[in-house]
Amino acid sequence: MDYLSYCSKCPVLVHCCINPPKDGFVAVGIKDTEKIKKETGKPFHEFLDFSMLSDEMVKDCREDFEGSEGKLRASMFVDNRILRLKVKSNNECIFLDSEKKCSIYHLRPSICNMYPYWYKKEKKKAGETEEQIILIRHDKDPECAVSINNSPALNFPESEKSNLIKVAKKIEEESEYYKKHIKEFAEKNNLI
Ligand code: SF4
Ligand code: SF4
Repeated sequence: MDYLSYCSKCPVLVHCCINPPKDGFVAVGIKDTEKIKKETGKPFHEFLDFSMLSDEMVKDCREDFEGSEGKLRASMFVDNRILRLKVKSNNECIFLDSEKKCSIYHLRPSICNMYPYWYKKEKKKAGETEEQIILIRHDKDPECAVSINNSPALNFPESEKSNLIKVAKKIEEESEYYKKHIKEFAEKNNLI
């Protein structure tokens, strides 16, 4: 699918990489974080934020619908903190360059890889060995031209679909790993 033709006409240039002033965030898994550090040579404190979120943001996530990104994030909170990418003073992601392109595109966190889609899990049916992952639009951005014009249910190429399903599974695995190791990771790297 040609994301570029849509993203180049994005109503607010790459607005998925610009967090709303409130304190929207791009959550990042521990393994992705380690990969970014290794390949960019940047220390964790330069690109990671593990400060407390506002009460409002915590509430928004907790009250999001079952299976949403917000709900998944809420399950990863540690004392209202979650590991996320830092933002610049204009709320752009720290990795968005002056040409409004991602400077770590091949290393971008899974959520960026998944965006503007999300997924829901369907319970196993008789004879199936694992849960089904169904792709859906990410609910947060009704203006996103990619997802408005490309419904995963209708006109998605199979290769694209299976790629995104792999990313969804990775998000699930990463969140489990994160929940087990985040406290130790944050303490070891002086992020608290
Ligand atoms: S994915 Fe959507 S929100 Fe992000 S830049 Fe493209 S059109 Fe804009
Ligand atoms: S890591 Fe890249 S794709 Fe993700 S929000 Fe930042 S600039 Fe955008």
